[in-house]
Amino acid sequence: MKFRVEDIGGEEQEQTLSQGENWLEERLAGEPQRPFRFTSPIKIRLHLSQSGKVILLRSRIEAKVEWMCARCLDPFSRTLTSEFKTSLKPRPDFPLPDEVELNREDLETEFYEGEEIDVFPLVQDQILLTLPAKAICDEECRGLCPKCGQNLNRGICQCAEKVTDPRFELLRNFRVH
Ligand SMILES: [Zn+2]
Ligand SMILES: [Zn+2]
Repeated sequence: MKFRVEDIGGEEQEQTLSQGENWLEERLAGEPQRPFRFTSPIKIRLHLSQSGKVILLRSRIEAKVEWMCARCLDPFSRTLTSEFKTSLKPRPDFPLPDEVELNREDLETEFYEGEEIDVFPLVQDQILLTLPAKAICDEECRGLCPKCGQNLNRGICQCAEKVTDPRFELLRNFRVH
């Protein structure tokens, strides 16, 4: 999805579009497998405005994402909504000095080259930065029994009943006189 800088021409532009579930697949190629997948088309709203040579891009995305819980390994779904703001400046002709002081604002600044801005890679990066690599289905998730692998959210396994640590037995008999 490319915008020509001269077409923006100081006028605000808004676009709403939808990309398939596998939109980020290509971007993720060669990366370690991530424990999530999109289960609905990804809705994207783009808003561009221009002030001098600087383009301000606001994007909002919404999609259903399915994760594998990091504790109990069960799949669970969430609707993800995120908003981003990026300011785009023309890439300077001269190389930047090696040591550039980075403040927060600089981190959200990107450069564009020539007369075209390709917004999709920017939006994709932002989505990937937002999505946690590890997620749990619920704060209260009990996870799996380390002995038998039973999902403890579905019920207690036999192991819990059998475990009696002799040290606790001692404590039980301990009395303060
Ligand atoms: Zn869980
Ligand atoms: Zn168990």
